[in-house]
This record gives sequence, structure tokens and C-alpha cells, in this order.
Amino acid sequence: MKVLVINCGSSSLKYQLIDSVTEAAVASGICERVGIDGRFTYKPGDGEKIITDVEMKDHSAAIQCVLDALIHESYGVIKSLQEIGAVGHRVVHGGEKFASSVVITDEVVKAIEECNELAPLHNPANLIGIDACKKALSEVPMVAVFDTAFHQTMTEEAYMYGLPVKYYEEYKIRRYGFHGTSHSFVSKRLVEVAGLDLNDSKVIVCHLGNGSSVSAVKNGKSVDTSMGLTPLEGLIMGTRSGDLDPAIIEFIAKKEDKTISEVMNVLNKESGVYGMSNRLSSDFRDLDKASNEGDVYAKRAVKVFSYHVAKYIGSYVAAMNGVDAIAFTAGVGENDHVVRAQTISYLGYLGIQLNPENNKARGKEIMISTPDSKVKAYIIPTNEELAIARETVALV
Ligand code: AMP
Repeated sequence: MKVLVINCGSSSLKYQLIDSVTEAAVASGICERVGIDGRFTYKPGDGEKIITDVEMKDHSAAIQCVLDALIHESYGVIKSLQEIGAVGHRVVHGGEKFASSVVITDEVVKAIEECNELAPLHNPANLIGIDACKKALSEVPMVAVFDTAFHQTMTEEAYMYGLPVKYYEEYKIRRYGFHGTSHSFVSKRLVEVAGLDLNDSKVIVCHLGNGSSVSAVKNGKSVDTSMGLTPLEGLIMGTRSGDLDPAIIEFIAKKEDKTISEVMNVLNKESGVYGMSNRLSSDFRDLDKASNEGDVYAKRAVKVFSYHVAKYIGSYVAAMNGVDAIAFTAGVGENDHVVRAQTISYLGYLGIQLNPENNKARGKEIMISTPDSKVKAYIIPTNEELAIARETVALV
């Protein structure tokens, strides 16, 4: 079966057509500037990337553009749309309603809408993508895969905040966690690669990308994770601040005569390693280069980032009373040997020694601790689209 995986943002739509047997991406790409003017990127399998300006007045037009490309007579990858057996949608917030993926029905759409206020930037866009696909592929079953679902196994010790209880009971303010498809995919693979028994395993996944989060996974279930009600909590990220003293918000607002929304914008878009590097970049490639050239801000940003990753690992070792293996994944985790080496330099107490040769690797599955390390560390590439495709096939 071919599964179309859709990740819909407010003005973009990422897609992949995945063959469920070979698990290869038959085609992939992105529609950008949807509702503005329209830019379409399409890559058939191993073929060349095609980028064109195509008018996309809304997400329905974007979906149509994708479907037309998939069946195009010269660069298409399928003969007819009948070959698409299912559509898997990434949905950011499933609140407490969804602890696993579900086949999309009218009731499910309603329940996702009810989670909109928990993710006002993401869920409405995800719903637009679902609606657009429903119109274009009305007979094809669709599945919603939630970023939050994997973490619904957390117990109240991990998900409750130290706030008046009415905020949880009335507004559902609690830790939800994100990047769930990635944490689920990578933790399962880590258990396999490290030769652990899933039912007797304690692993930590460091998903370090533009957005970053760490999770503690015990016996295959998420027991804690660093993102919270929103993806702002936890690690320092590309442009997000991560954890900080909540009093800082009022302090900045008063100093700079800003509204709460304006301060939140600073915390989401102007902070993280971007802010710490004095706006040099949110991209670790630029930061590493600048550090090597002696830029003190860039160097400090990367050091502080790694230190925070190491602190979270330590707290999750405590939460699980031990750890068997640790994975580094996503753009930074898979590619940045500096961040991995700096993080592991704090973990000697766990009996982890870095293998510097293997740590030079990028984007491939490899053990980066020495063979005699008590706790093993690995690079495990994530593949959120494949995880969504697998979930979709399992349900339809
Ligand atoms: P993601 O959000 O998982 O797509 O990760 C994107 C981030 O990965 C980029 O912003 C970079 O900071 C980082 N990244 C990608 N490639 C490299 C690389 N070769 N070396 C260091 N960092 C990288």
C-alpha cells in the first residue's frame, strides 16, 4: 500500500508518499507560501528535486498540486490516485483525549477541534489539511497521529505543575510533551539496537533539532519528557528559551514596556541559541563554525545547550532509577559531534565513555560510546514520516 503522509502548517504543507512494504519514500516535498503566492517542491524517489512557483490560494489547492504531481505523466510516481491506500496526518495536540493514533471520523475532527486552544498555531492548520484531503480523496481512509499521544502514559508525578489545581481541572493545564512520534520511533529502535528486553528497559531519547526535547522511556512507555503544556518548556532550542524563572516574563515586560504576547514572542522566536549567540544563528552549523573562529557568544550558546541536555539526562536517570541506553536524534543530535561530545562529557558518573572516532559519524545509526561503557550511547536517526505511515497502516 502507498501511504500519503501529510504535515500541515498554517502556510505550508509537507508531504511524503511512502510504500508500506519497502518503507521507502516514493516521493516527497513541500508546498510553501500557501495562501500567499505558492512555491511547490517535489522530489520523486531518487530523482531530481523540482521547484516551481504555483499559485496556491488555499490548502485544498496545495493538496491538488501534490496529487497532480504524483500522477504526472513524466515525473509522477503512481499511475492513478487509486494507488493511495491511506493518508496519515500529523496532528500536534491531542490533549488528554488521544493516547494513540485514530482513524479520522467526524467525531475525531470535533475532538481535535476541542484541543485547538492548547495548540492555537498548529491544530487549526492540521485540521485544514485533514479537510483538504477529505475533499480530494473522499474514499481514502485517514488517520491522525498525535505528537502528544506517546507521552499520555506519564503519571501525575510527571505531568502535574505546582499550580492551583483548578488550572488543571478547568483548563487542562498540565505537561503533555511533544515530538511523540519521534520519541516512540527512536526509543523502540534504541531498545532493538542496544539488544535490550523492551519489557525491562530504561532508555533516554534526546531529540535535538530546531525544536528539542528529551524523554525518559521505561519498558517502552514514556514516563517523562521535557516539553510541557506547549513546546516552549524544557531544553534551550533554536529560537525558544526553554526553562526559565517565570518571573522573568514580568521583569522583561516592565523593563521594555512590552505586553505578555510580545514577551512570549521573544521567548519563542528570539531566544534559544539564536538569542544567546547575539542573533548570529539558530543553526548549529553556523554556531560551530563561529565557535571555531573564536566567537564567544556562539561558543557559550552551544556549551549551555549541551549542559542543559546533560542535566535533563541526569534528572531522567533519577526518575527511572537508572538508564540502559541513550539516543541522540534529529538535526542536531544526528549531525553535531560537538554537542554530543559536550553532553557525554558530563556523563562519566553513568560509566559512559565517548568513542571519538564513531562520534564523527553523521546521520547514521552507530554506537558512539566505547564498547565497554556501562551505559551505551547511540546516534539513532529519526523518521517521523515513516512512523506516521506505520501507525496509519496498522489502523487501516
Ligand atoms: P530538525 O529540526 O530536526 O530538522 O533540525 C534542524 C537543525 O539541525 C538545524 O537548524 C541545525 O541546527 C541542525 N543541523 C542540521 N545539519 C547539521 C550539521 N551537519 N551539523 C550541525 N547541526 C546540523
